[in-house]
Amino acid sequence: MILTAENYYSQEANREYLSVSQYKDFCGSLGKIPCEAQALAKLNGEWEMEETTSMLVGSYVDAHFEGTLDIFRAKHPEIFTKGGQLKAEYRKAEEIINRVERDEYFMKYMSGQKQVIMTGEIGGAPWKIKIDSYLPGICIVDLKVMKAIRETFWCHDAGYMDFVQYWGYDIQGAVYQEIVRQNTGEKLPFYIAAASKEKEPDIEIIHIDDTHLFEKLTEVESNAAKIVALKENDYEPIRCERCDYCKHTKILTAPIHYSELMTDI
Ligand SMILES: [Zn+2]
Repeated sequence: MILTAENYYSQEANREYLSVSQYKDFCGSLGKIPCEAQALAKLNGEWEMEETTSMLVGSYVDAHFEGTLDIFRAKHPEIFTKGGQLKAEYRKAEEIINRVERDEYFMKYMSGQKQVIMTGEIGGAPWKIKIDSYLPGICIVDLKVMKAIRETFWCHDAGYMDFVQYWGYDIQGAVYQEIVRQNTGEKLPFYIAAASKEKEPDIEIIHIDDTHLFEKLTEVESNAAKIVALKENDYEPIRCERCDYCKHTKILTAPIHYSELMTDI
């Protein structure tokens, strides 16, 4: 299957290729509980995730830099009020765009080829990636819009975490770097071009070092076979019993003890 902008997110493409978001569905990140059952239900078209405003704001900013904002606006009438004005969240997105566009250094990183699709193989499985800004021979850049760049997240086992590790953007960096290497023979540095939705938007270019990416790639390689086996229905997916899919499909058969209510996930 040849991937294009039109079919990249299709169910057919998701079934044939692994992607970073699919990987996180199956294996989680520090901040995301994995749910094999939900991940498979999504792939089989039995469960749909609702698109959050936060995701849509990210896509709005991506579309701006790709030069496809007109198409995006036409496809998403829900971003406008009844009076035809942009809703507050998207006016904020406009403000963020204006903020990063007046930073020359930030814009250098955003000057690459946009939404570049590549495929490759990791851990014996085919993968697809889509790069926000690709500067051939120089670097790979992913644009992230978030609540706050320096926000920290509490993890039971790991203590306080930065957003990069919490949301598994280091996993994304590892996969992107490896797939680009397979396509071009060059191992390029990975950067996150980050901008916040705070009252006064904050901006940073964040580097994730190759040593850390290598660690993450090793992790991905060792998990890929399991995902392929699950996608081929080789064994029963594990239910997390926490996500909306598990809540929706659970069938009670016995009471639980009250002390189980506080068991850690
Ligand atoms: Zn679940």
